[in-house]
Amino acid sequence: MSTEKLYYQDTYMCKFTAKVNKRDIDEKGQYVVLEQTAFYPTGGGQPYDTGNISGVKVYDVEEVDGEIRHYIESPLELGEIYSGKIDWDRRFDHMQQHAGQHILSAAFEDHFGYKTVSFHLGKEVCSIDLAIDSLNDREANQVESIANQITMENRSIETKWVSEQEAANYPLRKDLSVNENIRLVIIPNFDYNGCGGTHPNATGQVGAIKILNWEKQKKKLRLYFVCGNRVMQQLDQNHKVMRQLTDLFNAPQKQLVEVGRQTLQQTKDLEKSIDELKAQLMEHEADELINDAKSYPQYQLVQAIFQQRPMTEVQYLAKTVAMKMKDCIVTMVNQTDQKTQIVCATSEEVTIDANVLLKNVLPLIEGKGGGTASFAQGGGNKKVSSEQMLQAFADHLREM
Ligand SMILES: [Zn+2]
Repeated sequence: MSTEKLYYQDTYMCKFTAKVNKRDIDEKGQYVVLEQTAFYPTGGGQPYDTGNISGVKVYDVEEVDGEIRHYIESPLELGEIYSGKIDWDRRFDHMQQHAGQHILSAAFEDHFGYKTVSFHLGKEVCSIDLAIDSLNDREANQVESIANQITMENRSIETKWVSEQEAANYPLRKDLSVNENIRLVIIPNFDYNGCGGTHPNATGQVGAIKILNWEKQKKKLRLYFVCGNRVMQQLDQNHKVMRQLTDLFNAPQKQLVEVGRQTLQQTKDLEKSIDELKAQLMEHEADELINDAKSYPQYQLVQAIFQQRPMTEVQYLAKTVAMKMKDCIVTMVNQTDQKTQIVCATSEEVTIDANVLLKNVLPLIEGKGGGTASFAQGGGNKKVSSEQMLQAFADHLREM
């Protein structure tokens, strides 16, 4: 009991009446099969229609085992006659994207020999995969211009049911996927395709075709585009962003890229200046630490405590002090929210091993770490205060 496909009789039909021939449930939900329908089921790269059957929402339509299943939100009675209505804005949008794709693919193939291998009709943008490695701006512009010319000429889009033998008389772009009840979609003298989708009856209704961008995908090229009302939506979105940017940078649209480039460069320059200033500040800080060094017979001891300081700064300070001062041992403790970090640095003239000293105190914080004879660092828990850690360093030093 097959359903009469009204969308093939009249592609513009959005209201109809039909009897429920079957009701059932599958993994997608409850559905009905109608005597006839204007609801297009997913197929040929074109998504399903939505709408309602006498007010009951139809949220998906799929062709399964030769029957067109209308998935509905609440039950309908078997044998009853209902009125169906499809969401026309959604369907017309699909018709525009789908027919636009026919035109775009034909233009690519005829002008450059670039074959389309697949088509995806997305929620916001569409894409085709071309069997090529690369595409340049000039080629894309030419194809876009041809496609829009075909649209502007408002050529007819015709459909024809033919046999396999009859189909052989047409210059079809690709092999047919069926061998009976073949439906051809024809833009005379331009494009001949076997296609089961829905199309407007003239190219003018595609409105406009805009290529957005493209990217390489393994052995093919994915090209993104929009047609019809989506061109206006894209333009609107882009224009809103552009208006905000021109306000933000206080510059006309044409200068935005240059202004953006300058701003990025300024940020880089500023970051460099900040780094230099930070280094200078830490030099001063190192000098102050050296002034506060405690003298012992064998060495000078520099100790410091920090809170929440980036480890890179602590390392830098310890190394700088050890480099600037002779006979010096540096021990530092930095506490963050979660842990205690310790570093130990020694200047060249000192015989004490920084790594050995560090390992002596690590058990106090159940920590891990290590390094070389001149610099070592580690981290552990916060069970012991920073002052106690520094004391432990000093105590172990006396024993070494
Ligand atoms: Zn088609």
